[in-house]
Amino acid sequence: MGSITLKQVTKSFGSTQVIPPLDLQIEDGEFVVFVGPSGCGKSTLLRLIAGLEDVTSGVIEIDGVDATSKPPAKRGLAMVFQSYALYPHMSVKKNIAFPLRMAGIDPDEIERKIAAAASVLNLTDYLDRRPGQLSGGQRQRVAIGRAIVREPEAFLFDEPLSNLDASLRVNMRLEISELHQSLKTTMVYVTHDQVEAMTMADKIVVLHAGVIEQVGSPLDLYRNPRNLFVAGFIGSPR
Ligand code: ADP
Ligand code: MG
Repeated sequence: MGSITLKQVTKSFGSTQVIPPLDLQIEDGEFVVFVGPSGCGKSTLLRLIAGLEDVTSGVIEIDGVDATSKPPAKRGLAMVFQSYALYPHMSVKKNIAFPLRMAGIDPDEIERKIAAAASVLNLTDYLDRRPGQLSGGQRQRVAIGRAIVREPEAFLFDEPLSNLDASLRVNMRLEISELHQSLKTTMVYVTHDQVEAMTMADKIVVLHAGVIEQVGSPLDLYRNPRNLFVAGFIGSPR
């Protein structure tokens, strides 16, 4: 269960409103991509969902329950940061175990979950290494592993591939899509890269200055862009 509903959500920083009233429905199991140019509010929206920022007004429901004032740890969501958010002094295993140890999970249970996640992510042979001894793609997999072991209702990704080189980005894009197909967990994925959006999303949310310009499948947006902004953004090369 991982549906997310935003009802008339706004966000202001000081006197500047960066998200005007916004409604959005994310269904359980959907792969939703927020796409739009730098500064349009993608990260802010994701952080509001995660609870890392408080809404200025409006309601956020997770699985139909009001989560607006729940702290991040109580929302059942896992945010995947860029790979440099790993702890450099800890092994891969300890990095993945960290959120479980913080949650007081039984050590045997932790071992079992780590083994399962490592197997899915092809990290079994790397568990004793430190992040500095891994490739960029492997580091990104560790960051995803740390989210998987928490068995979240939904994964929230904020430009997870932006510091990888182009060929690695293509591979990781496929791996994340495959992960979604096998886990069937809701994923909300932020990117400014329209190719990522078009190839990964079930549903794309095009944002422009905090406003949703259009919501639709990649094919919908390609065939029936609602305005010039969407047409230009979806159609233009990187
Ligand atoms: P994106 O992720 O799409 O690049 P952001 O969500 O980071 O955009 O930012 C949207 C707008 O909100 C930008 O104008 C940015 O400067 C502003 N903003 C984001 N975070 C803060 C903050 N903590 N304080 C003030 N302004 C912020
Ligand atoms: Mg951002």
